[in-house]
Amino acid sequence: MTVVYLSLGSNMGDKLAYLKQAIQRLSQLPKTRFVKASSFFQTAAWGKTDQDDFINAVVQLDTDLEAIELLYQCQEIEKDLDRVRHEHWGPRTIDIDILLYGEATYHSPELIVPHPYMMERAFVLVPLAELTEDFVIPTTGQTILEVLAQISHDDVVKI
Ligand code: ATP
Ligand code: CA
Ligand code: CA
Repeated sequence: MTVVYLSLGSNMGDKLAYLKQAIQRLSQLPKTRFVKASSFFQTAAWGKTDQDDFINAVVQLDTDLEAIELLYQCQEIEKDLDRVRHEHWGPRTIDIDILLYGEATYHSPELIVPHPYMMERAFVLVPLAELTEDFVIPTTGQTILEVLAQISHDDVVKI
């Protein structure tokens, strides 16, 4: 099985309920064992800042799904949880991104792993560090803790 970390975020509707439903659905994925979830964190919107705050979390799974199968499963869950795609980085009921898929790297139009922005997103790194501080990011050779030390993360507040 491959160790996988997923990033979850919501900034529309009952955010916490959407996150909990997503976690519930992820725990039922085929060929997959749900390992653990981080705390929930309240975070300011990133990239497109004129929108409601997010609640973010990270989950760890062990899976025998291929990375692309896992992506499709996550997109299915997003669709079922009222995700409608409007503008890039706009408000959403639920967003599920693949951060890390073991030591593997992918670079296709559909899937880039490690997630291209994870190294600069405190809302990803803070919950991820709660689950694993010493996981080595395959593209940079740095641990999660080393990357986290390089960015400011005061505005990521545990709830
Ligand atoms: P960001 O990727 O910067 O966090 P976003 O999550 O808002 O932005 P989406 O609109 O949810 O972006 O997804 C756009 C596309 O990103 C998806 O259709 C998917 O194919 C692609 N994608 C590439 N790499 C990944 C990944 N590691 N996890 C999830 N989606 C990915
Ligand atoms: Ca995202
Ligand atoms: Ca996404």
